[in-house]
Amino acid sequence: MTLKMKSSPADKTWKAMRRNLATWYTSARRDLPWRRTTDPYAIAVSEFMLQQTQVVTVIPYYERWLKSFPTWQVLACAKEPAVIKAWEGLGYYRRARNLHALAKAVVRAGGELPRSEPELRALPGIGPYTAAALGSIAFQLPLAVLDGNVMRVLTRLLALRDDISRPQTRTKLQEIADQFLDTRDPSTHNQAMMELGATVCLPRHPMCLICPLSDDCSGRAHAEDFPVKSRPAQEKRAETVAIIAYGESFYCEQVPAGKPWHGLWRFPDFDPARMEQGQPLSRIKYGITRYSVTMHAVSAKWKSRVPPCGSYLTLEKMRTLAFAAPHRKLAQFLEQ
Ligand code: SF4
Repeated sequence: MTLKMKSSPADKTWKAMRRNLATWYTSARRDLPWRRTTDPYAIAVSEFMLQQTQVVTVIPYYERWLKSFPTWQVLACAKEPAVIKAWEGLGYYRRARNLHALAKAVVRAGGELPRSEPELRALPGIGPYTAAALGSIAFQLPLAVLDGNVMRVLTRLLALRDDISRPQTRTKLQEIADQFLDTRDPSTHNQAMMELGATVCLPRHPMCLICPLSDDCSGRAHAEDFPVKSRPAQEKRAETVAIIAYGESFYCEQVPAGKPWHGLWRFPDFDPARMEQGQPLSRIKYGITRYSVTMHAVSAKWKSRVPPCGSYLTLEKMRTLAFAAPHRKLAQFLEQ
C-alpha cells in the first residue's frame, strides 16, 4: 500500500527526487571499504560498527576486524575476550557481543544470513535499523533505513517540526522513508540518503547549493532549524579511582556481568573503608549515557592485607587486555 503523507511531495516529485539522488550518489559517494564488497558478513560488521560511530573511526577497526575474524565461522569460534579486545576503543561494547552472538546463531543455522526481514529481526542484535540496512544493502530487500542522517534529511525536505525524540515522530518518519524508498534499488537509495546526510545535509552549514534535492526541499531556507529534538539535560558526576601499585604492577579489576563495561578491565573505585588515599595523579573527563563524569585518579594503598579479587597487571599486560576507554587513558598516563 502506498502511504500518502499530507506533507510529502506528490509521487511524481518523489520519483524525480529519487532519480536525482541516485545520480548524485553514483558520482559523489565516498570510496569506503565496506562498499567494495558484496559479502553479507562484511556488510554486517560495518553496520554494527557504524551504529553511533563515525566513518573515519570505523575504517581501521573494520579492516583489522576482517583480518582477525574474516568469516562468520571464525568469529563464532572466537573467545569473548578476543572479540572485546578487537572492539576496544569503539565503545558501546554491546554491539561487539551482539555481533558475536549473531555469528554463533548464523553458524548454527547453516552459515548464511536469512533473506527476509522477519527472519533477520529474529536474530540476536538485529533491530529495525540493522535489518533494513543489512537487508537492503546485502540482499536488496525493500526496507527503508531510518538513522540520524536520514531523519535530518527528511525533516528538512518536508520542513517537519515534530520532535524526533518522540516515538510517534519516528513512526511518521519511517512511513515517509518507506514511501520515498526506491524499491527498484533499495541498496543504492538507502546508502545515498545516508551519504547525503553525512556529507551534504550536515547538521551545521548544510551545503544546499550542491544538494541534488535542493529544488524540492521545503526546509532549505531554515535548514539548521531541523530536526527539532528535545534533549534531556546531562547530569554531572564525579568519581575517584585508586591507583594501587605493587612493584611494576597496578591493581585492576575485570567488570562483572550486569554492569556497564561488563567484561572490560578498569582500575578500582577508591574505597575509604579499605584504602588509604595518597596524592592526586590525574583527572579525566568522559561521558556515559546521560552522565558527564569527571574521574579523579589518586594513588592509594590497602589498609589491611585483604586479598583482592582483581589482579596486579604490568603496563605491558594492560596493553593486551581490553580496558574501558577512560581507564585505558589512565593506563596510558601511567606509561608516561
Ligand atoms: Fe539538506 Fe539543504 Fe539538501 Fe535540503 S537542500 S536536503 S537542507 S542539503
